[in-house]
Amino acid sequence: MARLRVLLPLPLAGAYDYRVPAVWAEAPAAGSFVEVPLSGRSMIGVVWDGEADPDLPEKKLRDIRAVLDVPPMTASLRKFVDWVAAYTLNPPGAVLRMAMSAPSALEPPASKAGWRLSAAGQRAKRGEGKLTETRRRVLDAIEPGDVQSAAAISAEAGVSSGVVRGMAEAGLLESALMPAGEAFPAPDLTRPGPLLGGEQQVAAAALRQATAAQAFGVTLLTGVTGSGKTEVYLDAVEECLKLGRQALVLLPEIALSTQWLERFERRFGVPPALWHSELGSRRRRDTWRALAEGRIQVLVGARSALFLPYPDLGLIVVDEEHETAFKQEEGVVYHARDMAVVRARLSQAACVLVSATPSLETLTNAETGRYAALHLPVRHGGASMPAVSLIDQRATPPERGRFLSPPLVEAVHATLAEGQQAMLFLNRRGYAPLTLCRSCGHRMRCPNCSAWLVEHRVRRCLQCHHCGHAEPIPPHCPECHSESSLTPLGPGVERVQEEAELLFPEARRLVMASDTIAGPAAAAEAARAIAAREVDLIIGTQIVAKGWHFPHLTLVGVVDADLGLAGGDLRAAERTVQLLHQVAGRAGRAEAPGRVLLQSWSPEHPVLEALVAGDLDGFMAAEAEARRPGHWPPFGRLAALIVSAEDEREADRVARDLGLSGPAGEGVQVLGPAPAPLALLRGRHRRRLLLKARRDIAVQPLLREWLGRVQIPASVRVQVDVDPVSF
Ligand code: ADP
Ligand code: ZN
Ligand code: ZN
Repeated sequence: MARLRVLLPLPLAGAYDYRVPAVWAEAPAAGSFVEVPLSGRSMIGVVWDGEADPDLPEKKLRDIRAVLDVPPMTASLRKFVDWVAAYTLNPPGAVLRMAMSAPSALEPPASKAGWRLSAAGQRAKRGEGKLTETRRRVLDAIEPGDVQSAAAISAEAGVSSGVVRGMAEAGLLESALMPAGEAFPAPDLTRPGPLLGGEQQVAAAALRQATAAQAFGVTLLTGVTGSGKTEVYLDAVEECLKLGRQALVLLPEIALSTQWLERFERRFGVPPALWHSELGSRRRRDTWRALAEGRIQVLVGARSALFLPYPDLGLIVVDEEHETAFKQEEGVVYHARDMAVVRARLSQAACVLVSATPSLETLTNAETGRYAALHLPVRHGGASMPAVSLIDQRATPPERGRFLSPPLVEAVHATLAEGQQAMLFLNRRGYAPLTLCRSCGHRMRCPNCSAWLVEHRVRRCLQCHHCGHAEPIPPHCPECHSESSLTPLGPGVERVQEEAELLFPEARRLVMASDTIAGPAAAAEAARAIAAREVDLIIGTQIVAKGWHFPHLTLVGVVDADLGLAGGDLRAAERTVQLLHQVAGRAGRAEAPGRVLLQSWSPEHPVLEALVAGDLDGFMAAEAEARRPGHWPPFGRLAALIVSAEDEREADRVARDLGLSGPAGEGVQVLGPAPAPLALLRGRHRRRLLLKARRDIAVQPLLREWLGRVQIPASVRVQVDVDPVSF
């Protein structure tokens, strides 16, 4: 009797063997989605590659229950799942889970009876009344207006169908008709794109050719901010769609990419399909299915879009490839830029990495010829790059208790007087990063993390930016009980706004931070208001550094250019250069030239000198030379083990054991254990060990053996992070 391996979306060691029912005419093909029994439950898995174990006794085997009416998972996606699992040291089932996205995606999209939230259910979802944990999970899984089958709801929420029935009886759910799957309009490939400039044409032709080859290859597309890189790679997207293959564009922050989406729509006449974590469950299901069935040609997504079921993926673009948002730090830890390259290789697809400030990894790959490189040297339409200069705060300090120095205030006044827009940038949310008691020196810190609480004056609370803990601002010091002795220290963006209100009362101001610009609608409205000149002064955190095009913005002031340069992280300099260059790149994108002022207490820092000289290439070359001798990435391999436990001594003990039994040998080195960058996070004590190896040594076998040598109690978690972004 035929046996098959079925991979289940669970963190199990491998695939499980099942029997094909004797009455079936043929065994389901590899990649088929099948329903199988698992310890009394029913589960959906995928028929996996490889031979089932012929020696497993017949009585241990169970029958496959059914084959689902869903296109089978392609061989290239199955290989990708296995590859990512092996590279990141995760069980393949944990990666498969990302590829299945939502179990309910596998439901047929016919219109039939289902359930939706009743009015009472919506109130309960908003937090009214008491609920059991399982009912709470069900409410979390359904968006208001969504209609889903009982099976989909129980699968999504991980509860039995009895819970769903019970909630219907209790009036929290009501029956409704499920709509059929949504249509995704096809892009119009006959619309002409914009007339490309000379250098754009050369680059676009090269990308079209790389795409048309229908073979694996990686191209790095660089060029200053505003040089027209997007228009160039949209040409490659068009080429890919003409070949009948699918294209994927990865963006670091979809919710803020409204201008990008508008451009896509102008170019192709329809909006692209979207994929990101805030997508409602119905939309998620429809998109997954439409993609699997070949009804979506082009998709724009966050990193998890790499795991979607494209029938024939022909092109992957990673825009702003240097962004750390592409790194997933929870669960399966992976870097979407690197995995995009792997996915492209397994799909015989072209991969395009795009950035004005590429990562040192990617630059090095281009230099050694592993990646092709294309460069756009000038801004589109003759706009010039902004002039960058430094304000030495030691020479011209801000007034006491203020954060804007006289030259910067002067420059903002002059810009506003000319009727142009200015921007003040500070990479810090909230009002003040630290609250200190002036009587006893007590600092307000998070009870769960080794981090200070950040004052948010708008929301009237102190908040931890790592675990979300929030508490009201106390009327007196919790330590010495002095009244009104607590003082905010240092600036956050809210405090800059307060100062701007005093200094530029006439200016129409807009704060752009993740707490004021929460979703796509707010982002679109902000972009519109700025373009329509309804705003004079923009005050923002790192969200203003994203690819915005603000044609009337001519002055960018960086309130604290030194922020991010302190600390032991070897990658801090690279990241700061990238961020500040991106912020600077918002200025002077149209006719009027732009300028950028960087306030600093240490203006001789090489990062700041490089920004002033506009010599990013030189800076990155120096950075490479600094990392090469010690075999730091990208000249060597690095993996981190994060050991964490609620009990500090247990974390220390396991970390010490790991430190004593680490791999040794030529070209391999273990650093640590040391406190992890956040030594306490969400109530868990964290220690870090780093494994550094020469480039020609694969770290995965070393890590596997290493972890096998140490007894790790259930209360201790060891997270593996291959290629950590900070070190
Ligand atoms: P980058 O991605 O390199 O920062 P963009 O692609 O965003 O640059 O281009 C900057 C601006 O110039 C955008 O508003 C874009 O629409 C415009 N632009 C770029 N290339 C062209 C072109 N060939 N014709 C017309 N407008 C263009
Ligand atoms: Zn005190
Ligand atoms: Zn915290």
